[in-house]
Amino acid sequence: MNVLVINCGSSSLKYQLINMNDESVLAKGLVERIGIEGSVLKHEKTGMDKVVIQEPMKDHKDAINHVLTALVDANYGAVKSLDEVDAVGHRVVHGGEKFADSVLITDEVIKAMKECIELAPLHNPPNIIGIEACQELLPSVPMVGVFDTAFHQTMPPVSYIYPLPYELYEELGIRRYGFHGTSHKYVSERVEALTGKELEGMKIITCHLGNGASLTAIKDGKSFDTSMGMTPLEGLVMGTRCGDIDPAIVTFLMNKKNISAEQVDNLMNKKSGVLGISGVSSDFRDIEGAADEGNTRAQLALDKFAYTVKKYIGSYAAAMGGVDVLVFTAGLGENSAPARKQVCEGLEFLGVEIDDAKNNTRGKEAEISKDNSKVKVYVIPTNEELMIARDTKALAHK
Ligand code: ADP
Repeated sequence: MNVLVINCGSSSLKYQLINMNDESVLAKGLVERIGIEGSVLKHEKTGMDKVVIQEPMKDHKDAINHVLTALVDANYGAVKSLDEVDAVGHRVVHGGEKFADSVLITDEVIKAMKECIELAPLHNPPNIIGIEACQELLPSVPMVGVFDTAFHQTMPPVSYIYPLPYELYEELGIRRYGFHGTSHKYVSERVEALTGKELEGMKIITCHLGNGASLTAIKDGKSFDTSMGMTPLEGLVMGTRCGDIDPAIVTFLMNKKNISAEQVDNLMNKKSGVLGISGVSSDFRDIEGAADEGNTRAQLALDKFAYTVKKYIGSYAAAMGGVDVLVFTAGLGENSAPARKQVCEGLEFLGVEIDDAKNNTRGKEAEISKDNSKVKVYVIPTNEELMIARDTKALAHK
């Protein structure tokens, strides 16, 4: 069985075609600048060089059409015909309280997804456009929606409620939802495989540290608390997002700078985080480079980032009454030994002890704690596409 995984952003689209018999990737790619001048499709059949297709793509349907054409191309395609695409799995950012699990997509489901748009006005519309375009182009193929928020629907009220008037939760759905759920779930399941122990009875803290970053406290295999909230802006210091700040700063800025709600939103989402503090870049590689050359603001950005992750680890250990396993994943978590070391330094009192030699690893599954460390620390590359494909296979079979 072959599953096509689609992740639609506002002007981009990522895809992977996965053979679910052995979970191998047959082809993958990325379309950028959809609906903008300079649309480009970068397609890669496993084992072959990347091909770059530059053609105007006026909308997502047009882009998906180009992807499907590439997948069946005689030279660089991965299948002979589209009949070999057995199901499509779509990443959907926000499922609100309506979706606690992945679902087979029906008209009813699309209607419910549309009702979640006001919670994620930037993310959900392109996700839905992608689904509708695929339905038109592959009308008899089953489609599944996999939500970033679903894994966190097990959070108890004490984790998800905001200390605002309760009516706002009831009327507008203002509560914490959490994101990166597919990633946190995937790495926690890998912990089960790597330790050979059941998740039941285990306390795990997963650190998804990429451009967007979030931590999740996982108790008995279920999300117990997570650092992102109603939107992906809450929590850690990120590439360009501020994470937790005093909420009064929002109105203070609007008054002092005479700027609109939209402008403050833009400032907090696009101009803050490690980019805002360092003034150098949102990319940790650039910031680590600048810090090495003596740039003190770049060093401050790295310090603030690691300090915030450390504080969250401490608070989640307290919330769960301990921690057995700590996991690092995503771009920075998988690749930056200095960032992992900085986060773990000072956590010895919790039983976290990193082995410097083992920590000197990149992009592959590895245990990096000392043999006698009470808390096991792992690097586990995330694989959201595979998780989406697995859910899609399971639901499409039903
Ligand atoms: P997202 O999917 O949220 O865009 P990723 O998980 O791909 O992000 O992570 C991207 C981030 O990972 C980049 O900002 C980069 O700073 C960081 N990163 C990747 N490789 C390295 C590395 N070798 N050293 C430090 N940071 C890295």
